[in-house]
Amino acid sequence: MEEKRGLKNRGYSHSDVDDRRRAVEEFTGTSLENISKYCFDSEKASKNIENMIGATQIPLGFAGPVVINGDCAKGRFIIPLATTEGALVASISRGMSVINDGGGVRVKVFRDGMTRAPVFRTDGVDHCMRVMEWIENNEERLSLAVESTTRHGKLVSIESFPAGRNLFTRFTYGTGDAMGMNMATIATEAICREIENNTGAVMVSVSGNMCSDKKAAAINMIRGRGKSVIAEALIPKEIVESRLHASTDSIVETNVRKNLVGSSLSVTLGANAHAANMIAAIYIATGQDPAQVVSGSMTTTMCENVNGDLYISVRIPAVEVGTVGGGTRLPSQSEALAMLGCLGDEKAKKLAEIVAATVLAGELSTISAQAAGHLGKAHQELGR
Ligand code: NAP
Repeated sequence: MEEKRGLKNRGYSHSDVDDRRRAVEEFTGTSLENISKYCFDSEKASKNIENMIGATQIPLGFAGPVVINGDCAKGRFIIPLATTEGALVASISRGMSVINDGGGVRVKVFRDGMTRAPVFRTDGVDHCMRVMEWIENNEERLSLAVESTTRHGKLVSIESFPAGRNLFTRFTYGTGDAMGMNMATIATEAICREIENNTGAVMVSVSGNMCSDKKAAAINMIRGRGKSVIAEALIPKEIVESRLHASTDSIVETNVRKNLVGSSLSVTLGANAHAANMIAAIYIATGQDPAQVVSGSMTTTMCENVNGDLYISVRIPAVEVGTVGGGTRLPSQSEALAMLGCLGDEKAKKLAEIVAATVLAGELSTISAQAAGHLGKAHQELGR
């Protein structure tokens, strides 16, 4: 009965949670005393979880302040980071301090759009082509179907990928300040009904894995998903040597041999030291969907010697973040967003810029620690 209530999203009271947890304690023969301690409203959290029995606490720290010169994020920011990995926050803070001495991070969102790609079954090649043509000729009609489901979502583009009797269509949406995955899914279902009714194609799945959500997929690395962001910083030679205890050339070499050659040999999507670390910590702190760290892990980190100074940049193809909806409405997560001035409307691009600046700082610190041969020592001192 309780499970049904949870799954239907009707909300549940604190005592529902207690009853359920006691049943789990009895079933598993364990005491869940720590899991029982939380201070948010379980009824509101019922939109974020089913079968709630309590909460897991993750330590929250901060890195920074970091100086960011973005199109939306401008100024000095303290970054909330939720993690259990000792040394991570210290390392990111070190990177930020060095970046500040060089003048800060320039960052830019260069593409923005959330995707959903259903797969249709058609009768064969000729039918597949007719369906494709119908979709291309009816974009306006499909846009109206989208707008019947959302005030903020807008259809931006459509790409078709025929394969045998399958037709994959990758719809890209502007999703305002929402990460947009629920929005895009609901809108795509409305589009699919139009396509089915007018072409005889059968939608087999609203998500045909060309989207691609929560998978390390080259299509996202190349075309982007959510916000695609680039960030850069220039660190003067003297600061590289005095603060990072390495030379510009040794950092550039470490980046080439490790991130570029090593990632290529291991056929890794992306080429970076640990972009996923920064992305996971900031996503968990601010109520993003942590499974989408996988797309951020396809970051490319680049280092160059520019007249002796170190130029470092990151290209993150898929920063899938929102400042409304999903986990952002939970109270601790809202507070973390507020710390960044990123709570609510007109803030999602700003948050994506802050994520990229944080990734850049973490990459700088870790690559230079490896160039200086200090990585193990730092983890030994701080993480054990
Ligand atoms: P959502 O909370 O489902 O939708 C966002 C809501 O905020 C909409 O009701 C939207 O209204 C409203 N809104 C208010 N102000 C807005 C603004 N300025 N910009 C945009 N929307 C605004 O959030 P979502 O981002 O679409 O989905 C996020 C959730 O999806 C996460 O919890 C994630 O874990 C989950 N998820 C779902 C799937 C899936 O396949 N369904 C996959 C991965 C993740 P309107 O609708 O009227 O525009």
